[in-house]
Amino acid sequence: MEANLQSTYDTVLQRNQGEPEFHQAVKEVFESLETLRDRHPEYESNGILMRLCEPERQLIFRVPWVDDEGMVRINRGFRVEYNSALGPYKGGLRFHPSVNLGIVKFLGFEQIFKNSLTGLPIGGGKGGSDFDPHGRSDGEIMRFCQSFMTELHRHIGEYTDVPAGDIGVGAREIGYLFGQYKRLTNRYEAGVLTGKGLDWGGSLVRTEATGYGAAIFAAEMLKARETSFEGRRVGVSGSGNVAIYAIEKVQQLGGIPITASDSAGYIVDERGIDLDLLRQIKEVERGRIHEYAVRRGTGVHYVEGGSVWDVPMDIALPSATQNELDGKDARTLASNGLKVVAEGANMPCTPEAVEVFREARVGFGPGKAANAGGVATSALEMQQNASRDTWTFDYTEARLTEIMRNIHTTCLETAEDVGRPGDYVVGANVAGFRKVANAMIA
Ligand code: GLU
Repeated sequence: MEANLQSTYDTVLQRNQGEPEFHQAVKEVFESLETLRDRHPEYESNGILMRLCEPERQLIFRVPWVDDEGMVRINRGFRVEYNSALGPYKGGLRFHPSVNLGIVKFLGFEQIFKNSLTGLPIGGGKGGSDFDPHGRSDGEIMRFCQSFMTELHRHIGEYTDVPAGDIGVGAREIGYLFGQYKRLTNRYEAGVLTGKGLDWGGSLVRTEATGYGAAIFAAEMLKARETSFEGRRVGVSGSGNVAIYAIEKVQQLGGIPITASDSAGYIVDERGIDLDLLRQIKEVERGRIHEYAVRRGTGVHYVEGGSVWDVPMDIALPSATQNELDGKDARTLASNGLKVVAEGANMPCTPEAVEVFREARVGFGPGKAANAGGVATSALEMQQNASRDTWTFDYTEARLTEIMRNIHTTCLETAEDVGRPGDYVVGANVAGFRKVANAMIA
């Protein structure tokens, strides 16, 4: 790394010890910024790098709640308000036992650049809790969300900070959170949260947006390589909101999605995933992916444990969680003829995996570009709320498609401009960074 970047990076490590995912995210951005060399002395004189790495505000709070047995339980809540140069802090809430400050900072840091790339006026933030929603009743989830919001409400607002969903937080949780916000503030402030239900201020396409966006981004990558999804085997990991709608869009684009997974194992369905069955199991019954193999019958196999990336595929859409695809997986995929990867999740590929893809000339679309469709549609939800309007599905989807295509073009043009043609990582990082940096200086 060039000297100025290296010394800032060393300071970041020093000041943020024990946060490996955060270090990983910062390092990747800094490596991309090397391509700018001394083109922007104003960034240095304004201390932009260090200012960007230091969140504007970090909140950690206690979340007490009562379980169904009447026991008081305690979890930890987080909200990192990272950067507001482009607009109110914007980013999801993640409820998962792995959540800690370092994870929230990595996600919030990524969110700054992702949100910038959408071209919409949103800053970057992220939050969540180490609460594990698995196996909890509706009542427990509701009481947890209400308690979480009892603390969070004083820090957020439609012009301040606008949370949404992420892993473990969907329309049900947003409903409980919004209800409590409304009660505490005595305001129907629809734009304070996104991912709301369609009857009360939500936007059509928001549920589908992250998965649709990732598939649309992959389609653009394929087009740039003069090919398409048509007849291609597509591997998707995860079986949550991102994976389900990535699968749906891949099918619409003529591809054949053959895999889905959860933390226990993965399924391979050579006939192509039966989306109705998958949705029934995951969205209605909140069951495990193993059920899919049981009900779909012959032709599907379920592998307990193992890696979904052992399955030969043309296109990979990792849509589960961070660092789920490592260097070994990348080598297996590349030797099995993989053409393109687009990250549906946040940072699912390890740095080593990204390096393997680069060397093997596999097209690699990083999450901050490829999965920006979710937050972009959140910004469209905010627009609808601000104008007290609701848009049609077709209109909203057309806006999403246009945004994803623009991000794709911006990545390629920026990569070309800084002498790294075809490098989507560099293109996304540099383009996302420039806009935020310029706004901070202004
Ligand atoms: N959690 C999503 C993301 O990682 C969406 C955030 C939002 O809609 O604010 O971008």
